[in-house]
Amino acid sequence: VDRVRTPSLDSSSSAGLPSPSSYFRVVVLGATGVGKSSLIGEMAGDTQSDTNDVTDDNDNVLVSVHLDDEESTVELIDCPVDTSMDALRPDAFLVVYSVSDRKSYLTAAEVTRHLRYDLGTDRTVYLVANKTDLRRQQRVTTKEGEQLAAKFDCRFLETSAVLRMNVDTLLVRVLENIRGQLSPPGE
Ligand code: GDP
Ligand code: MG
Repeated sequence: VDRVRTPSLDSSSSAGLPSPSSYFRVVVLGATGVGKSSLIGEMAGDTQSDTNDVTDDNDNVLVSVHLDDEESTVELIDCPVDTSMDALRPDAFLVVYSVSDRKSYLTAAEVTRHLRYDLGTDRTVYLVANKTDLRRQQRVTTKEGEQLAAKFDCRFLETSAVLRMNVDTLLVRVLENIRGQLSPPGE
């Protein structure tokens, strides 16, 4: 995976703000305990303590991703469900549930329904089934995840933050989807 984490903000602060066309905001939603903070930390490449975390004023993580010869900064926003999305204007949403927690799947269903129907967003929504390492405690099937994603026009990915499974893939696919919604294929 061709991903580079920025160890500090030095380069971007000396060069001024990143160009708006390469700066994307991704809001991470979902019930408490599903692994939102863990996923954000792992996507930022944070393997030990939070000494390498790059945070902005809101303690959100900035990740620099080099993909297809282009550098993008992705801001991962750990977001309480009741925050006003209108003000945030994110480029994409991650809706996370835990496969070991049936209630968190129902919360994810409500959140995705809200994003599509109440908020009416046409942005990328990624449904993320986390904790797939907990096979024996699994309470939500892959098929149920896929069905929910199909119902609300979401992408779907199974992850394990603790095993770092599909964590880089998630970051790369979200970025690809954001870029794809900016410019039609072929341009
Ligand atoms: P948040 O409330 O959604 O931010 O969830 P956290 O990231 O704080 O994680 C809640 C708990 O679940 C913590 O104890 C994490 O270590 C654990 N956790 C997070 N991701 C995974 C995972 O993929 N697998 C397992 N087994 N535990 C996880
Ligand atoms: Mg958290």
